[in-house]
Amino acid sequence: MSALLSHDELEGIALELRELLDSLHEELADELHTIEHARHQLQQARARQSDREAALELAQRLNLEHLREHLDTIAACNEALQRISRGHYGRCTRCGEAIELNLLRADPLTHRCMACQS
Ligand SMILES: [Zn+2]
Repeated sequence: MSALLSHDELEGIALELRELLDSLHEELADELHTIEHARHQLQQARARQSDREAALELAQRLNLEHLREHLDTIAACNEALQRISRGHYGRCTRCGEAIELNLLRADPLTHRCMACQS
């Protein structure tokens, strides 16, 4: 159990995480749509050489790094929600000590205490 966080505070963090997940899923859907669009254009470009440049430009605009970050954040959100439901939230996943409240408030996805982060 997290000794330092109140029930209300935990509920607030869980709500915040769920909202974050919702918006991440929306962004991810947009990004996947863009990728799908680019793939389609590239396929067409095989037939029509003239579109090739435009299709390549679109492919370059896709930020796969961004997509990866979103997937990582979604995974971190789900893990934090699991820690909340199991009653481990607020405990360092490495040493088991309570994570400093200012760290959790600054980033609710934090899962290590100050000492274990350094
Ligand atoms: Zn620790």
